[in-house]
Amino acid sequence: MEKARIMDSKAVMRAVTRISHEIVEKNKGIENIFIVGIKTKGIPLAKMIAKKVSEIEGGNVISDFIDITRYRDDITHDKIRDTVDESFSLDVEGKTVILVDDVLFTGRTIRAAMDYIIDNGRPSMIQLAVLIDRGHRELPIRADYVGKNVPTSRTESVQVKFEELDGEDAVIICDK
Ligand code: 5GP
Ligand code: MG
Repeated sequence: MEKARIMDSKAVMRAVTRISHEIVEKNKGIENIFIVGIKTKGIPLAKMIAKKVSEIEGGNVISDFIDITRYRDDITHDKIRDTVDESFSLDVEGKTVILVDDVLFTGRTIRAAMDYIIDNGRPSMIQLAVLIDRGHRELPIRADYVGKNVPTSRTESVQVKFEELDGEDAVIICDK
């Protein structure tokens, strides 16, 4: 059930713009940056950030996506075998990889994404950008760039919508 609409499209775009400026400032440009969206909803967000960062710096930042289903520690092996594209690889060697996801919760997805990245080479640094940090971490993981901190209870969930997939950009708090 929908409880509160906490970000509309303007708020999402403002957050994307701020995060993009922070990325450029922290990394002193975009030369060595590789923006990596985590499937599914990290992908449209990564595209928005990559576009904005490229506009700000007047260049073309590289971006791609990963599907980390296989690397989750809470998914059984049988389920995984059907879902993984084994041929997929990223050239992360020496890059500053910026992982992008819609929501940061326990941190297990990001832990898995870092394993994936490190299995593909040795990045010089890994940073993390999320639209929503909803708390409840179970691992020592934090985001370098956060659109909005949204303290939630475990019985709530956060619905994130992106224009590309859902026809609008919005963030809504729901009762599970
Ligand atoms: P974690 O692995 O940190 O527990 O959960 C983060 C991942 O699960 C993200 O990829 C995110 O898409 C999804 N997720 C966890 N909680 C929520 C939530 O409340 N709303 C949405 N939209 N995704 C969530
Ligand atoms: Mg996800």
